[in-house]
Amino acid sequence: MEYPPFQIWNPVKVVYGVGRIDTLKELGYKKPLVICDPIVTKLGLIEKIKSFFNEMYIFSEIEPNPSCELIDKIVTSYRNQNVDSVIGIGGGSSLDTAKAVSGLLENEGSIVDYLVGGKKFNVRKPLVLIPTTAGTGSEVTNVGVYTYRGLKKPMTSDMFWADMAIVDPELTYSMPVRVTASTGLDAFTHAIEGFWAKSSQPYTEGLALTSLKMIFENLKNSINGDKVARNNMALAATIAGIAFSQTRTTAAHAISFPLTSFYGIEHGIAVALTLPQLVLWTYPHIKSKMDGLLRYLDIDNVETLAEMIEKLMIIANIPTRLRDYGVKEEDIEKIAKISMEANIIKLTPGDITYDDVVGILRKIF
Ligand code: NAD
Repeated sequence: MEYPPFQIWNPVKVVYGVGRIDTLKELGYKKPLVICDPIVTKLGLIEKIKSFFNEMYIFSEIEPNPSCELIDKIVTSYRNQNVDSVIGIGGGSSLDTAKAVSGLLENEGSIVDYLVGGKKFNVRKPLVLIPTTAGTGSEVTNVGVYTYRGLKKPMTSDMFWADMAIVDPELTYSMPVRVTASTGLDAFTHAIEGFWAKSSQPYTEGLALTSLKMIFENLKNSINGDKVARNNMALAATIAGIAFSQTRTTAAHAISFPLTSFYGIEHGIAVALTLPQLVLWTYPHIKSKMDGLLRYLDIDNVETLAEMIEKLMIIANIPTRLRDYGVKEEDIEKIAKISMEANIIKLTPGDITYDDVVGILRKIF
């Protein structure tokens, strides 16, 4: 096969390893704004970060799927406080918020102007991102996802590439089973979408395959609390993040936005719910590429791959049917219509249609 022209660009410095959160003290920041959710404070991480700086501000009220209102509120509170840098620590919701805040503290307006209004960030505060989940890869992507008028919307910006991602797996040891499973499934979905996206190329395919293998080998033990497996999952999630930072994601993410926005399904579960069916749907369109993936993972056929993905949900007691999350059968067409509006769905191999999405949703209803 022949690859079309492509480029590679990921300027984020990645620092990986247990205890590497200490790297923060070497950065010379004088007055950082730390953005996190309440769990991070409870885990004692804020106390630790405080010991690295003489002065710092803390905003610790991030909620899952951050809204545009919340982001604007943070920016209004800190715009005149001489913040010299932004540190996001937490799950993807905290990291995405930190990206937007670092941009808005140096630019005029509301996040809405940038998310839907076409305005562009061209400068930001220094930005460090520290994940405490092993899933989103947000620490190494130029993507931010924000809830606007009740619906999740992704945006990209060159200003969202952080200066540094500190991937310290120890910070993920406290994740409960469900967060471990759902964020691990998010990483798995990034890897598979980074592998098959129409925009994929040899670099992303290599990263995606490495990550997929690590996830298959470690997610189950990670759910059971094994520390080495959690270390490997933290790394695999970042590798998958680098892969999809070049390709963007595809149908699984497009369909997840209405599933999370309307039914509150956690992000990682929302992306994984359709994945077994999407794997089967995609297979005939990129058969030889998927056969390569199956060989690499030592899996007999695509049906077994689909079953293995579903099993990863079942071992963590995560329901696999839409009805279990309050979705009504008559809602399926609305979900499919909104999914088709996300640009990333066009990157799915095989030109997926509205009817295909309805069919996939009916199969998992
Ligand atoms: P999250 O940030 O929404 O957090 C989920 C829950 O996990 C919260 O209750 C949080 O307190 C808890 N938690 C986080 N770390 C913990 C720990 N170490 N111990 C115990 N509890 C912990 O979850 P997430 O799945 O990491 O992020 C999802 C968000 O990220 C969504 O908004 C999604 O759209 C976005 N996302 C962004 C990108 C990107 O590239 N920017 C990629 C994928 C997903």
